[in-house]
Amino acid sequence: MNEPLAIKPRDYKSGIKPIWCPGCGHFSVLNAITKAAAACGLAKDDTVLVSGIGCSSRLPAYIDSYGFHGVHGRGLAVAQGLKVARPDLAVIALGGDGDGFSIGGNHFMHACRRNVNITYIAMDNEVYGMTKGQASPTSPQDWTGSKLTPHGPGVRPFKPAAMALASGAPWIARGYSGNPNQIARLLAQALAFPGFSFLHVLSQCITFCPEQTDWKAIVTDFEEEPLSRADEAAALFLSEDGFKTGLLYREPRPLWPPDTPPAEDAKLVLDDLAAEFQR
Ligand code: SF4
Ligand code: MG
Repeated sequence: MNEPLAIKPRDYKSGIKPIWCPGCGHFSVLNAITKAAAACGLAKDDTVLVSGIGCSSRLPAYIDSYGFHGVHGRGLAVAQGLKVARPDLAVIALGGDGDGFSIGGNHFMHACRRNVNITYIAMDNEVYGMTKGQASPTSPQDWTGSKLTPHGPGVRPFKPAAMALASGAPWIARGYSGNPNQIARLLAQALAFPGFSFLHVLSQCITFCPEQTDWKAIVTDFEEEPLSRADEAAALFLSEDGFKTGLLYREPRPLWPPDTPPAEDAKLVLDDLAAEFQR
């Protein structure tokens, strides 16, 4: 039988009530963060959540750790700088699709290729929720839900996992807000991975994209071993299947800055804590 966790998921809750709409997918990510943090035994004083701007970027206020609710699209820049200055901290950057892939797209690509040892959670609902439902970089080309683009945005959506792969990210996974335990499991692995880990979460916006409740019928688990550099073509193909969830790609490589001591590749799957992550 497992030893009880020294710190419980609820201990990471700040007590501030989230102001997200009832049914918002971001609640699942919040709960998953507390579960993964407890499973990994993250000390609150040694953990920092850094966000940009948007509905999802409010999340650091809801966790009882250090946090930085920063500038639109710049969470990754702050998070990388913090980790380089304080490599002893666990640094988690997070935000939404508008924040991370539009104004923050440049930072995203360069964070992937730089490989500073942080985790980035992108909570993707294919819409700018906080500013009342405009098309975002990941909105479907024919999405007609916004009055600003009544015929759809008319441009191809950004493919976050494929972009991460092409930019050199060494660890890529996808979760779904309808399965918070899967997000927690993936996040625990991301935190244990020695390098930049990108967790793309399909996190539904129930208010501006009610059709996203259909995702439940579309998402499928990726049940194979994570892909690696040897099968990058297959990985790219997989990354373009935006509804395949699980650990998609894993290929450790040297960290940045170059004098960073090699982090232990914990390969922490947390099997002994599997019960914490059951559906
Ligand atoms: Fe969540 Fe959408 Fe409401 Fe924002 S607008 S809190 S993303 S449901
Ligand atoms: Mg969004």
